[in-house]
This record gives sequence, C-alpha cells and structure tokens, in this order.
Amino acid sequence: MKKYITTPIYYINGAPHVGHAFTTILGDVLKKFEQMRGNDVFYTTGTDEHGQKNQSSCQECGMAVQDFIDMRSGNFQKLFDAMKIDYDFFVHTSSQQHKNVVKDALDYIYKKGLIKKKSYEGLYCEGCEQFKKPSDLDEHGNCPDHQKAPKLITEENYFFPLEQDRQWLIDYINTHPDWIKPKRFAKEVLGMLAEPLDDLCISRPKSRVWLGVDLPFDDDFVTYIWFDALINYISSIGWKSQGDNAAFNETWAHCTHLLAKDILKTHAVYWPIMLKALGIEPPEHLIVHGYWLGEGGIKMSKSLGNVVDPYEVMDLMGIDPLRFYLCNAMSLSGDAQISIDLLKQGYKQLANNIGNLQMRVLKMIAKNLDGKVPSAAHLEAEDKALLENVANTFERIYKYGEPSLELVNELSAEILKAGDAVNAYFATQAPWVLAKDESKRERYEAVIYTTLDALRLIAVAVYPFMPSIAKKILVSLGQNDEIKAEFKPVVLKEGTQTIVGDPLFPFIA
Ligand SMILES: [Zn+2]
Repeated sequence: MKKYITTPIYYINGAPHVGHAFTTILGDVLKKFEQMRGNDVFYTTGTDEHGQKNQSSCQECGMAVQDFIDMRSGNFQKLFDAMKIDYDFFVHTSSQQHKNVVKDALDYIYKKGLIKKKSYEGLYCEGCEQFKKPSDLDEHGNCPDHQKAPKLITEENYFFPLEQDRQWLIDYINTHPDWIKPKRFAKEVLGMLAEPLDDLCISRPKSRVWLGVDLPFDDDFVTYIWFDALINYISSIGWKSQGDNAAFNETWAHCTHLLAKDILKTHAVYWPIMLKALGIEPPEHLIVHGYWLGEGGIKMSKSLGNVVDPYEVMDLMGIDPLRFYLCNAMSLSGDAQISIDLLKQGYKQLANNIGNLQMRVLKMIAKNLDGKVPSAAHLEAEDKALLENVANTFERIYKYGEPSLELVNELSAEILKAGDAVNAYFATQAPWVLAKDESKRERYEAVIYTTLDALRLIAVAVYPFMPSIAKKILVSLGQNDEIKAEFKPVVLKEGTQTIVGDPLFPFIA
C-alpha cells in the first residue's frame, strides 16, 4: 500500500526548536514503521516562506528576499539532515511549482463562484496574521498568543465562506471516529464547529504584505498565508485542477498529516472545507500532539535557560536516544516535558536496559563460546515462553498498530519492558554460574541462546526509533541489517559469529 505522511511546513521567521524536531522525527519513525510492514511511504516536510512575519524578519535582516529565505529555510533543512530524517520531498512555498498549484487551486475555486470580495472591518493580530473576534481576546483585549492588542483595520479582501460546510464537517467527524487522533482533539474540533463559522479571509492587500503568492484573479493582493501553506500537501504530490490526477489520487488516498495542537483549526476546519471545494476527500488521518515544556511543566524560554537545543542533545548522546525519548515521553493527554536531565535519565535507562544486556551476553560468549551462537536444541519451556512473549507483543503491534501517538508510546514502552524482562531472566538464570559447571553446559547454552534471540527481536522492534542502534545490535549478532517486521522466535542459527563492538550507549557525564 502507498502511504503519504506530512509534517506541517515550518515558519522560517524563527529558528528550528525541539518541537519542530519532534514532529519531523515522529514522521520519520512512522515512515520506518510503515516501511517495515512493506508499505511504500512518501514523506514530506518543508518550510513556509511567505507571510507578514517572514517579510518583517527579512526586512529586519536587510537581506535580499531569496537570500533570506534560503538562509532561514536552510536552517531547518540542516537540522533535519543532521537528524538523518529520511524525507522524500522538502517543500519550499516560494518554489514556482508550489505557487503554480496555489494559483490553480484559487482560480478553480474562484471560477466555481466560491470566493467573494467584501469590505471588512476587524481586529487584526499581526502575530497571528489573522483577524480576531472579540471573544478570541483575553480580559485585557490582547491576543492570548501574542499578549498584544490587535489593530482595528478596515480593508477590502477576498473571502472563502465556510459556514455552508459546517454540518457536513460535523457529520464527517462523527462518522470517521479515528480521523483525528488522539480522540480528544476531535472533541475540540466539534467544539469549534458548535457555532457558525465566519468567512475565511483568503487575501492580504499587497500594500501590507507582498511576500506571498499573487491572487490569480487580482494582483493587488497576495494569498493569505494559510491558504497558501495548506496547499503544500497537494502541491507536493502533483495535484492539478485539470487533467490526469491518477498518481495524485493514489498517494492522497492514505495521507496522514502530523501537527501540533496550535494549528488544529487550520487543519481540521479550514483545510477539509478547502479540499471539498477542490473536489478532494479529506486526508485519511490527522495526528495531533501537544507541546514540549521544560522540566516541571515550565514553558521553555531563553531567559530561564531551559531551552533544549537539538544540536546540543545530538552532540551529547547522538540522535537515536533523542528520537526514542521524544516518542516515549510525548503525552497523549496533554503536554510533555523535556530537559537535558530528563534526556540523560532516558539515555541511562536505555544503557542499563538494552545496552548492558547486549554487552554482557556478547562478552560472555566471546569468553566461553568463541563468540559463536550456541544451539537452540535444549531450550526449556520458560526460555520458549520468554521468546514467544517478546515476539508476540511486537508481532501484534506491527501487524495491527495504526500510526498514532498511542502507537509510538506503546511500542517504545513495550521495548523497554521486553528489555527489562530479558535482563531479569538473565539475572535469574545466572549463566556465569552455569558456565563454570560442565554438567550444566546444555542449560548454559539454552540461556545464552534465549538471551541473544530476544535481543535480536528487540533490535528489530526498536528500528523505527533508533535505526543506527538497531543495526549495530543486529550486526553484533552476526545478522545482516535488512529490517523487516518479522517477529518469529528461535531464528538465530547455531555457529553464527557474534562481535563485541563498542558500547551502544557509551557513558556520558
Ligand atoms: Zn496573535
């Protein structure tokens, strides 16, 4: 099956932070999970290079527009490349290809008579680049996201009405209970749909904003940033209003958008109604996540010194443990916490769990068995039960799991549980004692075999989170590093040469 996974395209007016890193890592983890199940995946990420905020940042820098865009967008691409993200396409909204699709889509909707021009007086927040209703503001009359009072402005603009599709969208959500995951966000969207929807202003006068896509039917205006940005999900896979969309349709049929909760309304209200106007089905799934806060649930800020810099983390422990931490710690019910200390705790857990197990068993057989995998001929019931438990758990998740935060939470937790179970088995069986008694040779070999084969299963399961750690373990077990979601126990062959390599998780202070 062909699957399509997207991250939001990130605003280049700021620097990439751990929140961007998480969403993009999550997409990469889900891509690897799907590939292991034999699915084809097209994975996109990218940058949103238009709009008033980028325009202001560009003017402050005093740079030529394209140089500014290349520099700021490059910061995101550089981070994602440093994190070894396996994206298939990096979106630039300033690319001609994307702009052409935005114009095509607008033109199509305009010709259907779904766009109207009117004069509008409203409270405009520059930070949000949106008009605000008085009910959106806090008790001081400020935008709650920007702590600034919006400006009252009157201007002519083009509008895309949404209200006519409100009931359709409510029905869609009610008949597609797993459209928005986790479910609590579907409830939030239904709340947004409880009241009539205002027309969406889809233009900005060029006198105010020039960094954008010209409206195809009025070049005094550029396209509202969200109308432009959301189109990336269809421009990346070649949608066009006329002609053959067979390839597009095949890819779009199984599309999952990943997003943080602050952009839920744009993705779950505006976007499906825009798609409907274009004659396109809603994306198959939206996966919505909370924010990353500092330790203790405090918002990260430079002044508090609790900002987690992805580069600093990678320098300290490499990318794999960061990937594992983020997927394991993201909360389903709210926001999650991150700090260098929490990351170090997560790292030590991995080192004590998977890292120790691998090093102890490999060192032991290097000493007693010339580093060769022993026979599985004398496995006892408890050995087989351990292997079957581990194998069945992973088999079930890989067979039936659907991409979601629940999935990455559960899988990462089960990997740690399996590691704990094998460590406990190893400690109870005490193979270092068995090794000293020639009459217990068969038992010794069975315990070693069981431990090695369990480690192999864990290595396969952990691949989406920690691809290079997974491959290192498999290579140390004398396996090739081709990874498939196959979880049969008792696969290691007797006599296979194992290798004691460097520690998987070297000591960090
Ligand atoms: Zn605002």
